[in-house]
Amino acid sequence: MTRNYNFSAGPSALPVDVLKQAQEELLDWHGLGLSIMEMSHRSREFVSVAEEAEQDLRDLMQIPDNYKVLFMQGGASSQFSMIPMNLLRGKKTADYINTGDWSKKAIKEASRYCDVNVIATSEENNFTSAPRQEELKLSPDAAYLHYTPNETIRGVEFDYIPETGDVPLVADLSSNILSRPIDVSRFGMIYAGAQKNIGPAGLTVVIVREDLLGDTLPGTPSLYDYKMTADAGSMVNTPPTYGWYLAGLVFKWLKAQGGVEAISEINRRKAEKLYAAIDENPFYSNPVAHNVRSWMNVPFILDNADLDKQFLVEAEALGLLNLPGHRSVGGMRASIYNAVPEAGVDALIAFMQDFSQRHG
Ligand code: PMP
Repeated sequence: MTRNYNFSAGPSALPVDVLKQAQEELLDWHGLGLSIMEMSHRSREFVSVAEEAEQDLRDLMQIPDNYKVLFMQGGASSQFSMIPMNLLRGKKTADYINTGDWSKKAIKEASRYCDVNVIATSEENNFTSAPRQEELKLSPDAAYLHYTPNETIRGVEFDYIPETGDVPLVADLSSNILSRPIDVSRFGMIYAGAQKNIGPAGLTVVIVREDLLGDTLPGTPSLYDYKMTADAGSMVNTPPTYGWYLAGLVFKWLKAQGGVEAISEINRRKAEKLYAAIDENPFYSNPVAHNVRSWMNVPFILDNADLDKQFLVEAEALGLLNLPGHRSVGGMRASIYNAVPEAGVDALIAFMQDFSQRHG
């Protein structure tokens, strides 16, 4: 069996130990003679798996008791509409920060439900920075402020949490949840598609403060209603049971690594050495301001774009997979989520140096 190094932005690498355990348990889960996929979501067994996953996530992120954890479907993109439906709560406007492609999608969708104030943007410098706190001119009547702490495509990660006073702060943590400690109490709501640091695609984790539940926009579908979802233990209908189970295994794996604090040290190291390899070599470059360079998504371009194809072919031959940048920006991108081992980053750096020596 060969396990290559997988730098995919999402769906992305999963820990080998998790895949092995899932394989071992696939045909016969805990001696029951059937797979976890094949049992009722309301069975005692599945409910215990589901509750344990929630508790492990609560432990890992130190989620305060006055927050609900929801296991939903529809990907992070469905939250772009659920957020205004649930959080406008009688107000007509919401504030958004625009730091790139995912912010823009969230803004576009929210505009269908309310007046969106884009209170700050880094568009003028091609999304290579993030607005500072002093630049955030919050609207007095905004229902919430939404931002994207980590822009997956251009690799821009906020180095601070915006201060919003009484206005609930809403964050799309799809590509950096569980990568470093965050203070959940600073947020009204957090959400993340699972397919990067949590598990397989098909599951979306929502963490929402209890006092923000209820009073949804008229016409909100039951499945999009956070309060109904919370009241039903995320089982208004059949949840994505296998994804939920796998997320639970990933949470256990992360606990065994020492938790978020411990993995964040590894993540810092992985990112620092990869950016250093880019900065120290004129053959490669990354345009993002140093203070907001993402620890999870590291885009870079080759000095000579004519060599892109060859770079990718040679990388793949060495088992370094999924390095092309997003189709909208080109170049390369190495996504180095929790499950990408440090040895994978070392192998990538060694290849980059070797390639540049031969072609530089
Ligand atoms: N937000 C961010 C920051 C993302 O990176 C992505 C997916 N790459 C999304 C939202 C959309 O996620 P989904 O495909 O699960 O809707």
